[in-house]
This record gives sequence, C-alpha cells and structure tokens, in this order.
Amino acid sequence: PSPPSNGGENCCVKVALHVRPLIADERAQGCKDCVTVVSGKPQVQIGTHSFTFDHVYGSSGTPSSAMFEECVAPLVDGLFQGYNATVLAYGQTGSGKTYTMGTGFKDGCQMGIIPEVMNVLFSKIETLKHQTEFQLNVSFIEILKEEVQDLLDPATLNKSDTANGHGGKVNLPGKPPIQIRETSNGVITLAGSTEVSVSTFKEMATCLEQGSLSRATGSTNMNNQSSRSHAIFTITLEQMRKLNPVFPGDSNLNESMNEEYLCAKLHLVDLAGSERAKRTGSDGMRFKEGVHINKGLLALGNVISALGDEKRRKEGVHVPYRDSKLTRLLQDSLGGNSRTVMIACISPADINAEETLNTLKDPMSSE
Ligand code: ADP
Ligand code: MG
Repeated sequence: PSPPSNGGENCCVKVALHVRPLIADERAQGCKDCVTVVSGKPQVQIGTHSFTFDHVYGSSGTPSSAMFEECVAPLVDGLFQGYNATVLAYGQTGSGKTYTMGTGFKDGCQMGIIPEVMNVLFSKIETLKHQTEFQLNVSFIEILKEEVQDLLDPATLNKSDTANGHGGKVNLPGKPPIQIRETSNGVITLAGSTEVSVSTFKEMATCLEQGSLSRATGSTNMNNQSSRSHAIFTITLEQMRKLNPVFPGDSNLNESMNEEYLCAKLHLVDLAGSERAKRTGSDGMRFKEGVHINKGLLALGNVISALGDEKRRKEGVHVPYRDSKLTRLLQDSLGGNSRTVMIACISPADINAEETLNTLKDPMSSE
C-alpha cells in the first residue's frame, strides 16, 4: 500500500515511532543498538535508510513520557467533545506493543497508555460532574483467526485461573459468536460481547487486568505470550449535559431541549505481531493463524493508506473497511471525524534489524 502523506495537518492519522531500550535479554546476547534517532527531527536511521514520522519517542529521541501528552491526551479530550478515536500499537513481537499500550497486566503493575488514559479520564470527569452526567462502559475483546473473543466474558474469567495452558480460553457451547454490526446511522456495535459499566478507576483497572489475564496464549518460537491476536480495549463515554435554559423560567420549554447527549468511544488496540508468518517457523495450524492475522494487518494498512491519501479521500474513494474483522470493528473510529494514532514499536537491537526495517517501511511510514 502507498504510504499516507506524512504529518500533514489535515491528515486524520498520525504515526508515531516508539523505540524501546535494549532489554536485558538482548544485552545478554551481546546485541548492539542499531537505531539512531536524528537529533531535533522526528527521524530515525538504520543503516543507510532514514525514516520520518510525525513523532519519534524513546532511545535517544524525545522521552517516552511525552508520548501520552502529545499523541493520546488530545484523543481523550476529543472523547468529551464526542469524537471517536483509536490508538494502535503496531510492530513485531517483542517490540514493546503490549508494554506501550498497557495490555499486559503483570503482578498488579499498571503502566502504559491505557492506565494513563484512565487517569486523565477520571480526573476530567471529576471536574465536570457537577454539570454533566457520565456513563462509562468498557469492553475488551480479542480477534484471533478472524473470530472475536470476549475477554470479559464472566464464564471465561472464572476459568482463567485454572492451569489449562490456554489462558482460560474455552468456547462455551451454546454461546453465539460475537458479531460486528452496523446501525442505520453508521455506528458499529459488538453484539454478544460483555460491556461492563464502570464508575471508578479501580473498576476499570479490574476490567483491564482480568481481560489481560484471559488473553489467548499459544507459544511460537518467537514469543510464548499472545502475539497472534489483536486485543482491543474499548472505552465508551456517554454524556448528558445540562444546558442553561435560554429563557430562565420558561416552563414551556421541553425538558429534553435543555440537555445535550454525546456518545463517543476510544479503542486502544494492541495489534498482533507484524512479523511474517514464516518467521515464526511454524506450519499447519499456526501458519493458518498467521495468514489470518495478516488479513487484519493488511486490511488495516490498506484502510490507513486510503485515509491518509488526501486526494483520494476528497474523491470519495472506497475505504476497504470490510476486508477484515479488525477494520470492520474500527470502521466508525478510523477516518471521518475520528482521530487515529498509530504507534509503530521497534526494538533497537541489531538482531531484529530486518524486521525493524519492515516495520519502518510498511505500512505506514515514509522513507
Ligand atoms: P510485544 O507486545 O510487542 O510483543 P512487549 O511489550 O511484550 O512486546 O515487550 C517485549 C519485552 O520488552 C518485554 O520484556 C518488555 O517488558 C520489554 N519492554 C518493552 N518496551 C519497553 C520499554 N519501553 N522499556 C523497557 N522495557 C520494555
Ligand atoms: Mg504483546
């Protein structure tokens, strides 16, 4: 797919690069850092290639702590104005997607984008609640082999403690598959998935933790954690705002005319590993999964290319949302009035250079 215009003000998709530090494992193997951040520019070099993004974080670039403020906080603000948004972490397995998003709950430790979103969300609600009524819902699903799995299914959660080696993932007999539907006004819904109503940080964190724990696992020789599925944590914010009456005391005014209703959602997506299926050195079943994963990532690349192409967008070009479950689910939150941030994650280690180059080239950067 052709890359979108890079960093254009009107571009509805921003692409940030996150370079994680070398990890202990890589140091132990004697890996060298092969990624150079060009100082003063959102640009990286690897070998003779250089790549420019809207932002570059980590390594010797802007500190990662700035990423939330610059890339994600504006999307949370937008939620309060009724704009849908999507944050996606893209990259090979081991590049830091889960760490960056915060979908890998471990030992009660909460870090990453999702916990930060929750912080901002609840402190904003606290300051606005005297004039606005809020309703927050959370869903957490996973797309594996073009099938939607409910990570918050109470029946699955109860089983996730048992050591069955599948993270408690049991398909219950008689439970209909989750379906992605579109309402007549273009709103995408997930029929059959659990939506949890939450009113505190703690309640939302519990959802994040439980869903993270029940993510599918299946080991490949690249990573024994879930790397073949897309995990999508969705926060839906409904607001009922009391407006000041135009004519105070005018009792003829319909009650509902004094209220404004807004509903918007934020999808936080930890994408499947972008490495090629052959890199996992697996075959049969696993290879099939690889093909399916590529279907979602490929479709996403095509959708983002179509959205990023100003000229094609103005001509009303067809955006191929229907080509995968992932893009179908995100349809009302990618493009249009919604805001999207893609965070490409890379490892700086020389052993990963080939796959890192693939991430930098494809599908959403400009060389
Ligand atoms: P992915 O989800 O892309 O497979 P992970 O998020 O699991 O990758 O990260 C791989 C490893 O790198 C983990 O051990 C993780 O703790 C570590 N890691 C990732 N990002 C960072 C970071 N920014 N700082 C320190 N360690 C990191
Ligand atoms: Mg991961």
